[in-house]
Amino acid sequence: MTWPQEFFDWRAGIGCPMCDGRPAADEYGVRILAGKVSDAYLVRSDIQRGMSVVIWRGRHVAELTELTEGEVTAYWSEVLSVGRAIEALMGPVKMNYSVLGNAVPHLHTHVVPRFASDPLPGHPLPFPSPRPPDMPAERLWADVLALRSAITADRMSRRHTPG
Ligand SMILES: [Zn+2]
Repeated sequence: MTWPQEFFDWRAGIGCPMCDGRPAADEYGVRILAGKVSDAYLVRSDIQRGMSVVIWRGRHVAELTELTEGEVTAYWSEVLSVGRAIEALMGPVKMNYSVLGNAVPHLHTHVVPRFASDPLPGHPLPFPSPRPPDMPAERLWADVLALRSAITADRMSRRHTPG
């Protein structure tokens, strides 16, 4: 086993799929935040309610260590607005923030609520392969709209906070 050549190309920014525009929706998710430095998407696949991914935008970045101090602050501020919205709406017992990028080496963070009814308490939530079918459209869109509203409120409240 070895890392595929595609990984090294993508890591260098050649053909990186996460540098390909800022779609409002794609086969993997529906956007819930179009931020200054990131886009956040609710994951369509029915793995865990509220599971989202926040993708760095602006230029190709593979590692958090490539960001300036200001970029780090801006990025995590947007990631945490998504986390707060999920907490407020869905009542998880724990939030997980996974910065992995072993499949697609462009900076992104999986924001994963863990619930009392969780399938694997005490451990990271496995990402099943193959990807499970999408959640029902009615639930997807109800969660998208509620999360967008809560995230917007969180961003607004932070904009007016001194300091
Ligand atoms: Zn990229």
